[in-house]
Amino acid sequence: MKYKPVIGLEIHVELNTKTKMFCDSANNPNETSPNTNVCPVCMAHPGTLPVINIEAVHKVIKTGLALGSKINEYSWFERKNYFYPDIPKGYQISQFEKPFCEDGILKLSSGKEIKIKRIHLEEDTGRLIHESQILNPKSKTLKSYVDFNRAGVPLMELVTEPSIETGIEAKEFGEEFQLLLRYLNVSEADMEKGQLRIEANISIMPEGADKFGTKVEIKNLNSFRACERAIDYEIKRQAEVLDAGEKVTQETRGWDENKSETFSQRSKEESHDYRYFPEPDLPPVRLDKAQIEFIKQELPELPASRRERFVGEYNITQKDSQVLTVEKELGDYFEKTITELESWFIDEKIEDASIKQKLIKLSSNYLITELQKLLSESKGKVSGLLINPEDFAELIILIHQGKISSSAAQTILAEMFNTGEDPHQILLDKNLGQVSDIEEIKKSAQEVIAANPKPVEDYKKGKVESIKFLVGQLMKATKGKANPQVGEEILKELLTQ
Ligand code: ADP
Ligand code: MG
Repeated sequence: MKYKPVIGLEIHVELNTKTKMFCDSANNPNETSPNTNVCPVCMAHPGTLPVINIEAVHKVIKTGLALGSKINEYSWFERKNYFYPDIPKGYQISQFEKPFCEDGILKLSSGKEIKIKRIHLEEDTGRLIHESQILNPKSKTLKSYVDFNRAGVPLMELVTEPSIETGIEAKEFGEEFQLLLRYLNVSEADMEKGQLRIEANISIMPEGADKFGTKVEIKNLNSFRACERAIDYEIKRQAEVLDAGEKVTQETRGWDENKSETFSQRSKEESHDYRYFPEPDLPPVRLDKAQIEFIKQELPELPASRRERFVGEYNITQKDSQVLTVEKELGDYFEKTITELESWFIDEKIEDASIKQKLIKLSSNYLITELQKLLSESKGKVSGLLINPEDFAELIILIHQGKISSSAAQTILAEMFNTGEDPHQILLDKNLGQVSDIEEIKKSAQEVIAANPKPVEDYKKGKVESIKFLVGQLMKATKGKANPQVGEEILKELLTQ
């Protein structure tokens, strides 16, 4: 039978606030020493009281506004009761009836709009560390440890409507949402560090049916790729269950990366199991319109509109625009480089649009390929670059003017990357200027001809490819500094004399 998949995501995001959600312990995801960022409040000592971190509330509202959500001016926190060793209070302070944000839309790059149901605020749990049998094969008493550094860290949860239909769409949603979080500076949203965690709910129904099937929730997806694969696997598995005349069990399943399959973990709890009730230790939250408006004014240009603007304003391809905006700092760098180029156009009285376009394209190419290569090799970030956009633009101009060859450009760029030095200076110091001086190239060309009688003869007999070999020899003789086009012209001229 043919089925229609129905998918909804629940995404948890650790917010990058200075302090925790309800106390002033530091919120430092990079803290390596366990149980350092703790205090009586987040350790649930009797008699302590929580205080709402307003920075966290702002970040949630900011995210909601960026997604076009409705902001509830009156909302409150609730207790979600359950027992687990990583949750000192025996309950989690969360939101249930009235989240800060409801509804909203995130548009994928394909143009499809995914509906958002709600965004609420809660607190994270501590971390359990289990001693492993692999590391301690002889141990008969394997221990478990708890690190409370993360307990009480502000956690934002976004829930989508079940309007996703494939694994790839879920992956795209995750990536686009991650990008948005980074543009908004509400979270580093690094999945490897657990700052962004995805759970996927999946069900299938016969095509044409109007009632959703039983859903299964998948946890421990630690990459967007895993999310995509687990969903695709689960769609197939559920179809096989139904085709065999059986029923899909409502449960929580895990994703086994090595086996590439999902496995049953536990039957799913219902919300009434948690005995939610309004948190008596916290007042409800009232936001007025002016506060919400203030946060709205703070919103930066969002990734989707920036992507579109780059294509229109700089006449680059969708794909290049996508790469340039996938990191906010890279897009900023690109635009600063263009500002530098523009002042050069004015200084040099360049009005020809095709020349301007060529330089913009060259900048985008060098940023996307050469600079990214250097960054990924050194695991560096755009924000830590030693090269300033002014020098980067100068390098692009040198290439455009034919003053350096593309191989020299790479050498210079690598040097700029390591030292932050000015490209002109490197060009002089390393004597990397491209020789376009006809007489100088002619002299080397004559030497190359004299030293390579066989290829010269071949060429003269009509084997035109031999010229490539001779150009190669000429480049070698000039240490790569001859302009290859000019070199080829000169060689041909000398050989036909
Ligand atoms: P629960 O109370 O079981 O957690 P929710 O209504 O909060 O369920 O929804 C949780 C997530 O599951 C949401 O992302 C929602 O879109 C999705 N979802 C709800 N029903 C289905 C279904 N039948 N199939 C797939 N996903 C679903
Ligand atoms: Mg839920």
